[in-house]
Amino acid sequence: MTATPQQDDCLFCKIIAGEIPSDRVAESERAVAFRDINPAAPVHVLVVPRRHEPTIGALAAASPVDLEALFALVAEVAATEGVAEHHRLVFNTGTDAGQTIFHAHAHVLGGKTFTER
Ligand code: 5GP
Ligand code: ZN
Repeated sequence: MTATPQQDDCLFCKIIAGEIPSDRVAESERAVAFRDINPAAPVHVLVVPRRHEPTIGALAAASPVDLEALFALVAEVAATEGVAEHHRLVFNTGTDAGQTIFHAHAHVLGGKTFTER
């Protein structure tokens, strides 16, 4: 396991550590994927780096290798969930964009036809 800075008060760090239960669908050395507790689509998986960074931009700046690993796990999850050819990948940054958990994460959404932009 790589050494990964964690943050004591972070929900996703606790999920990664197994201190809070989740429906985990995949994991790698550097990233973890689990189902969103409040799904917005039939497939709604969150893919998070084990390394705690508050936003996807901060992760990209701090650790390109973790960013790459995040996208690799996104691709794996999209394939195993059967949505490789049709899915949305969403990163919310900041409260105005709807970010509520300040541990970088990808939303992998699929299994429905999206009409709204
Ligand atoms: P954000 O709004 O920050 O982009 O996304 C945070 C997501 O985390 C939301 O879609 C929300 O439903 C999900 N979430 C919040 N708390 C929990 C939890 O305890 N477990 C899981 N699996 N998902 C959570
Ligand atoms: Zn965290």
